[in-house]
Parts: sequence; structure tokens; C-alpha cells
Amino acid sequence: MDYLKFEKNYIKKRWKNKFSIALIFPNYYQVGMSNLGFLYIYERLNKYEEIVCERVFLPEKETTLRSIESNRPLKDFDLIIFSIPFEIDYINVLKILRLGEIDLEPLKRKEIVLAGGVATWLNPEPLSPFVDAFLLGEWEEIEEKIIPVILDYFQDKEEFLEKLDTFPFVYVPFMGKKEMKVAKSKKPKKVIYSKIISKKAEFSDTYLIEVSKGCGKACRFCAAGFLYRPPRSYSENHLNEVVEKISDNSKVGLIGLEFADKKEILMLGNKLLEKGCTLTFSSLRIDALSNEFLELLKETKSVAIAPETASFKLKKVINKNLTEEEIFWALSRFQEKGLKKVKFYFMLGLPLENLEDLKETVEFIKKLLEKKYKLNFSFTFSFFVPKPHTPFQWANFLDLRELRERERFIKRELYYVKNLKIESPKSAFIQALIARGGRDLKEFLILLSQGEALKRALKSIPNVSKILSPKNSLETVFPWDKIDIGVKKDYLWREWQRALNLEFTPFCNTKKCKLCGAC
Ligand code: SF4
Repeated sequence: MDYLKFEKNYIKKRWKNKFSIALIFPNYYQVGMSNLGFLYIYERLNKYEEIVCERVFLPEKETTLRSIESNRPLKDFDLIIFSIPFEIDYINVLKILRLGEIDLEPLKRKEIVLAGGVATWLNPEPLSPFVDAFLLGEWEEIEEKIIPVILDYFQDKEEFLEKLDTFPFVYVPFMGKKEMKVAKSKKPKKVIYSKIISKKAEFSDTYLIEVSKGCGKACRFCAAGFLYRPPRSYSENHLNEVVEKISDNSKVGLIGLEFADKKEILMLGNKLLEKGCTLTFSSLRIDALSNEFLELLKETKSVAIAPETASFKLKKVINKNLTEEEIFWALSRFQEKGLKKVKFYFMLGLPLENLEDLKETVEFIKKLLEKKYKLNFSFTFSFFVPKPHTPFQWANFLDLRELRERERFIKRELYYVKNLKIESPKSAFIQALIARGGRDLKEFLILLSQGEALKRALKSIPNVSKILSPKNSLETVFPWDKIDIGVKKDYLWREWQRALNLEFTPFCNTKKCKLCGAC
């Protein structure tokens, strides 16, 4: 398909005398085109005179793999960079390399394959047998350091990797550096936003703007929350500069984990509304919704709320306490503002969860539906995956039998609910293995990427239970321990103990707190 027909502001450059980069999103076009990090890097790389950067996505039909801009195969490019937000897409990385006729083994190929993105900062190890080097950090922080190295040394792969390896945020698996540190901007200045839009994107024709980095709410399951610590916001001036670049009457998606009542965000939202823009938001923290913020929603059609559970016990375990009253209050306000749709997100399989907890969530949904709001609801249940670099890295992942029992329970109790979706237990199981695994997942990933059945692929992993049921001790060594995200392991351990003792932890106060090590 010629996707360019559906896009605005794409960048198509001449190739002559330029260094070419294939920037790959290891999933379908519509998903990648709604990923702000990926789009931002595409635009940044193309700012360099001497670089031509083109996008590559997982093809819908597994036949040909070509870049979007000039329809070229992977082999035509000088450098390949993957941007990977989700661990499950590690499988697609292998599919794409194979479709591009690039050898999976770094030492057997001349092409250079780099990878970055949130999934790799959390745990690059399962992918380390296939990638020459990982770039662990926020692009705006690493760009100026790596671009000169790329341009000066790409012709000699070994020298290039040696140079890259001198940066603390680079992980070259075969060079065996012991520790890496995720690079983060201390005071973010350049607001991350994307100018390219597409009708075929999940957020169709929507400009995306990052309004803050990180989140100080300390939900214990949330890897992004810990990875992006400390929470950081942009100044009013920097946000103002972006407003000027957004065309009037556009759709704008505001991305940021915690922003509901910050004055800078209100300013940005109001200025965009004055330009006739319609705003959409990633998941809202309704416990921080102010009346002023609600005003921003006047043209918005749908919002998402993620209570995760309705059980008060589990709310203490996960350190996220959206109360029933807050939710009902917010729904009434949404209704008044003319919103049409509210998407709810819940989790199954949380630590310490039992049948009583599931019943509480079911009862909450029934009560919500009885209230007859004039809103369309949808309910999505996903399975909890104990992610690296969170207090739940010590938690056990339930086995497939238990996951399926929970799935059956929810389906049985809520059989009459429209728009009820439950994630497949099998895909959660694969996600957990990849998120938590090490290099010994090499064969497993190869087999899954070739379409092998899970049962057979599992036989290639020496010890599945060690990956999914870690020893409950601070001494447990995880494959991702070598990556320093700035949050101390003993802090995570203390948070894990607080979760088991059903204790809440207050939100971050970056002015005076030094607790986790990130500030
Ligand atoms: S040091 Fe304190 S305020 Fe800063 S990120 Fe850690 S917990 Fe939050």
C-alpha cells in the first residue's frame, strides 16, 4: 500500500551522497504511526543534511519488506535502527530481519543493527543475541552524542561498535560491559511532538505532544512510571513554542502519564482549544481532575480510565487508589461535557489476588452499568505481567491454568456486558517470559518468529519457572540488573514489602525526596 497518500508532513529526501537509516517499528503501520517516540526520532534524524531516514514497519502480508518513503529493501540502508516499545515485539524484530534478508547473528552479518525503545531499556537481554548495540535512553539526551559516531565510523563495524561502547548508555552485547545507565534529560527542554500525521494511524490524523515526562504516582506495577523517574515537566515557554507549530483545527493527542492538574498543561490545552483543535488524552488520572481541566474535554469524544481493580486490598497492593466515588463523580462530569465513550482498563492476576477481589471488580462494573449513564462503556481486562525495574519484579506470574480460570470467571459473571474484552492468557504468558527472560530465550524467540507452536517453543527454555517465579529475596539476580535506570534496587524491594503489607506509598515530591535515588 502507498501509505504516503494518507499522510501529511512526511519527509522524502534524495539519497545521493547521504547516509541512509532504516528506522523500524516492529509492528504494523497503524500502531507505529501512533507512537510518538518513533515519529520524533524519524523527524530528528531527517533534520541532519547528511542523513536520509526512512520508516519501515511489519508488513501486513508477510511477503515483502520495503521502506515507506522510497520503497527500498532493508539491504539498501547503511544502518538499521529498531524502536521497540513492547517486549512482545521482540518476535517481530526477528521476523523483520528475516524478511529483510539480514542474518540474525551479529557476527555473521556486515549490516549494523541497533535497537532502542522502552522495552530494551527495561530488559534488552532476550534480544541481545540478535542486536549489535542497544541505545538505552531518551533520544533527546543521546542524539548529539551518537550521530557524530554514526557518521564518522559506520564504515568499519568493529570500530563503530567500539566507539559506541564508550558511552554509558550503550550496550554492545558481545563486548560484555558490566553496567549500563539509561540516559535521561534532567531538565527537558525540547518538547517531544510529532508533525507527521496519517489517516491510517490508530490515532487518525492526530498530532501528538508529550506534555510531561514520567509520573510521580508510584503505581507499583507500572514499568514506565519507574523508568521515567523522576517526573519532569516542560516550562510554559517550551510548550508555547509547540502550540505555534500545530495547525488550526487539528486533532491533538496529549501524551503524559500524570498531567491532569498542572498549570502548564492547562495553558497548553486552552491555547490549542483557542486554535479550534480537538484534544484527546492518554489514560486520565481522574483523582486529579479539576473543573478547569474538565473544560479541556469539551470537544473530546472518548477518554480512558484505568482503575485496574475495584478491590480495596488490591488497590493498596498496587498503590493506586481510584475510589468508586471519584469514578462516579468523573463519569457524571464527562456526561455533562458531552463525552460519548469511556474505556475502562482492569488487570487480572495481580499479586495477592483471590476470588473475593475479582468479585469486587465484577460487582463494581455491575453497579456502574445500573447507573444508566448516557455514555458508551467498554471494559478491557489484561493480565498482570511482573515487569523488570518495578517492585513487582519479585512477584510470581500465574500459570496458564490459573489465568484461564480468571478469564472464565469474568466471562461468566459479565456475559451480558457489551464491549467486554479479555486479553488472551497465552499472549500474556509469552509477554511475561520475554519481559523477564535472558539470553537463553534465543531459540524460543527464533521458533516463535517462525510460527512454531508455543508448547514446542517452550521446550527450548531451560527453566521457565525460574523466569516466572523468582526467589523472593533481595539477593535474587535478574537479567536486567546490569541496566541502571536510576532507581535503587533496595528501594524497589522496600516497595515490594510495603505491597505485601498492604501499605500505600505517597506520591513523589521531587522538591525534597531522595528516597528512590532518581532525584
Ligand atoms: S527520589 Fe523521591 S520524588 Fe524523586 S522519583 Fe524517587 S520517590 Fe519520586
